[in-house]
Amino acid sequence: MTALPQQPPGRLLAGAEQIEIHTESLVRGRVRFALFDFDGTVSLIRTGWQDVMIPMMVDILAATPKAEDRETLDGVVRDYVDTLTGKQTIYQMLRLADEVRRRGGTPRDPLDYKHQYLDLLWDKVRHRVAGLKDGRIAPDELLVPGCVALLENLRARGITCYLASGTDEPYVIDEARALRVDECFDGGIYGALDDYRKFSKQMIIDRIFAEHGLGGPELVAFGDGYVEIENTVAVGGIAIGAATDEVTRCGVNAWKRNRLILAGAHMIVPDFREQTRLLSWLCAEE
Ligand SMILES: [Mg+2]
Repeated sequence: MTALPQQPPGRLLAGAEQIEIHTESLVRGRVRFALFDFDGTVSLIRTGWQDVMIPMMVDILAATPKAEDRETLDGVVRDYVDTLTGKQTIYQMLRLADEVRRRGGTPRDPLDYKHQYLDLLWDKVRHRVAGLKDGRIAPDELLVPGCVALLENLRARGITCYLASGTDEPYVIDEARALRVDECFDGGIYGALDDYRKFSKQMIIDRIFAEHGLGGPELVAFGDGYVEIENTVAVGGIAIGAATDEVTRCGVNAWKRNRLILAGAHMIVPDFREQTRLLSWLCAEE
């Protein structure tokens, strides 16, 4: 796997313990719309999806005529899975098909690969969704800390909230409802469609800008993946990297943090426990 240089610490936001600022020139006080990624940023239901996708892909590639050893394949797969995180799942499967071809194999339809993966993942997460629905699991156990308070705070300021996920839309809607955050997203909930050309985070961002005649810093985006950060930076929005440690739900995941800074994140937070401080700063209230 490609080693990346460790990114230096940003300036700590005054009055906060864990909010890093990596861009000093941000225009504050103009936010009107907020865009959230779902998995890893709001929801922890699908935590561990990489441990399902990566071994599945390594198995498939290991069966091709010109396969390298499993360790090499693991590095190859990890790299492209990571780079494509935040895009719809199908893009990871399109890449898998390319990698099979590159090694002399005949790939299956990428959509078949996607369904194979979703079935495997569902075995791992179905009990979480069921537990949320029947009350055995409290939503807080599977939400990034502070997320609901942040959404309520944004809404109280008249900021419209959108949810956009690379996971298939019916799952996203069902899981947002199970976590009882669906109604927080007054701008709408969007996810991947079988016709993958009809949805992307870029399209959602473009639509928000077009419909509301937005300027860059009127949009703030929160995400733990490359794609939402890069897309937001590209339109001049404020990109906040959520480097959540999904397992301990406490502190920064160093690997995510590094990747998010390299993608252009203006700020890094471990979670949303300090959302009051974060929002008052973003809204230029001091
Ligand atoms: Mg994510």
